[in-house]
Amino acid sequence: MTADVRQLLLSRIRDVSDYPKPGVMFKDITPLLADPAAFTALTGALAGLCAEHGATKVVGLEARGFILAAPVAVRAGLGFIPVRKAGKLPGATLSQAYELEYGTAEVEIHAEDLGRDDRVMVIDDVLATGGTAEASLGLIRRAGAEVAGVAILMELGFLGGRARLGPALDGAPLEAL
Ligand code: AMP
Repeated sequence: MTADVRQLLLSRIRDVSDYPKPGVMFKDITPLLADPAAFTALTGALAGLCAEHGATKVVGLEARGFILAAPVAVRAGLGFIPVRKAGKLPGATLSQAYELEYGTAEVEIHAEDLGRDDRVMVIDDVLATGGTAEASLGLIRRAGAEVAGVAILMELGFLGGRARLGPALDGAPLEAL
């Protein structure tokens, strides 16, 4: 990705302080999604990472990960699979609980969507503590598939997500645009 494209993407991310609660700087990607040049550049870069790392499927993390991963899957010619918050998928699911700063959360995947021949690229907008991505990697491996990598738009480095994700990545790349 060129410096110009990176600058374009950065310029379309809005910082919203104290949202959704005091002390949080929320990274709002809606201006980027509304700009066709920026949205096209972002999905193109993510689709390029899928090809580079030999992905056969794209997993998007609810909810903003869906917005990015679905067009990436189409551009890369791959299938899209949602990882959803617990209780939203109608079929037989695998579930994974994980720790939040206060309390726990749980994500699920349809077990039948992945198999032994799959290499999966996980896509989301923001990597914060890494808990959601870590749980998702666990689901992918339990479904029998291989992890091709994790590709995100932004990494909030001060929250230590990369370190938390390290063991779950098990050598697979974490690409932060
Ligand atoms: P985490 O599991 O802590 O890495 O959180 C990742 C999820 O929360 C992602 O799906 C993000 O969309 C969302 N998220 C966490 N922190 C922020 C933030 N500061 N701005 C925007 N989204 C965030």
